[in-house]
Amino acid sequence: MKYNTTKKQIALISVHGDPAIEIGREEAGGQNVYVRQVGEALGELGWQVDMFSRRISADQEIIVQHNSHCRTIRLTAGPTEFVSRDVGFQYLPQFVDQLMAFQKENDLKYELVHTNYWLSSWVGMQLKKRQGTKQVHTYHSLGVIKYNTIENIPLVASQRLSVEKEVLETAERIVATSPQEKEHMRTLVSQKGMIDIIPCGTDVRQFGSIGKIAARAELGIDPDTKVVLYVGRFDPRKGIETLVRAVRESKFYESKKIQLIIGGGSIPGNSDGRERDRIEGIVKELGMVECTSFPGCLSRDILPAYYAAADICVVPSHYEPFGLVAIEAMSSGTPVIASDVGGLQFTVVNEETGLLVPPRNVPAFSHAIDRILSNPAWQEKLGHEAKRRVNNKFSWDGVASQLDQLYLQLLEQSTREPALAV
Ligand code: UDP
Repeated sequence: MKYNTTKKQIALISVHGDPAIEIGREEAGGQNVYVRQVGEALGELGWQVDMFSRRISADQEIIVQHNSHCRTIRLTAGPTEFVSRDVGFQYLPQFVDQLMAFQKENDLKYELVHTNYWLSSWVGMQLKKRQGTKQVHTYHSLGVIKYNTIENIPLVASQRLSVEKEVLETAERIVATSPQEKEHMRTLVSQKGMIDIIPCGTDVRQFGSIGKIAARAELGIDPDTKVVLYVGRFDPRKGIETLVRAVRESKFYESKKIQLIIGGGSIPGNSDGRERDRIEGIVKELGMVECTSFPGCLSRDILPAYYAAADICVVPSHYEPFGLVAIEAMSSGTPVIASDVGGLQFTVVNEETGLLVPPRNVPAFSHAIDRILSNPAWQEKLGHEAKRRVNNKFSWDGVASQLDQLYLQLLEQSTREPALAV
């Protein structure tokens, strides 16, 4: 069914995940990429898209125009500096006030918002209470799962858990990015609320645009080297330590023909900088300095070459609600070895597009690496199937059109049953 009678306008709210910022550094990862991709894709489908985030530096532009229909708007709420998401809740009332003021100044009223992560979900719930806005929400991470995988539970934990329950029960629609995430919401958060499954997507034209030989030539990597790649943030829960130790145990390590590339940015002194130092320390301790490289933050322009150059991409996370890196690598024709958790169980098909192994299990990761690297024909077959799976299920065009239909359906409902004036 097509809906075309409604004005296509939406606000995407991502308080702590600025869609216009450089990706791959402190607390900037999948959520930022997701919001930016959703925003731009919707812009191309004729939506007027305003993406709201918190301004974290006086040098940042207040409005960044991405295309003629899509812009990022940075609101001042709290100090104009980076604050960890665990202490960001106190600035949300000011964020809501700023958003209301922005609407007033620009003669706008958002009938529909799509909020991202629990902090933004609270903002969306306030807009709903104050002006009857309809809310779609994507969690990106569930507190109840996160707090099971870390030792130091932050003070904000109980607040987060209650906000996450409230939004599930009150939003017009929750977007789960995998069936596994939906199941976790139902079993661990609440039985109430409406959940649709719409996965994250990736740009299948960008990833897959370069072949292995050309990629290796561009990056100066010997064609005979076995390349194992990690891409992502430096965070202990990403399991990079497991990967380093697994490569050290690989039978290819002794031949010195293996290269481990650990791509991702970090800021010295911040939590990601500390994790990078810790990982570099392990690399040194295991005598792996020569076969390990840290190219730093990889821009969207160079990432396709890294994925294509790799023989295997490893996603060793302790937990992952979706895991964009897996589908980016798969789209590039590279098999993925991933932890058998969360959304990775949805994207990676064990023995068909890669291998799933128990998280934190060094021998299991090492064995999986050896199985694929010692069988180039199978490696190629897995890569081929991986690419096919992403093209069929996770292309941005397909994902964006599912979101487009969901939003239109909700807006259409509000024109039929206008929200009560609040
Ligand atoms: N990323 C990037 N450059 C880097 C490291 C990561 O562009 O140096 C991107 C990566 O391509 C992916 C995102 O950051 O799109 C990470 O998303 P994922 O869902 O895998 O993990 P999250 O950061 O959400 O935990």
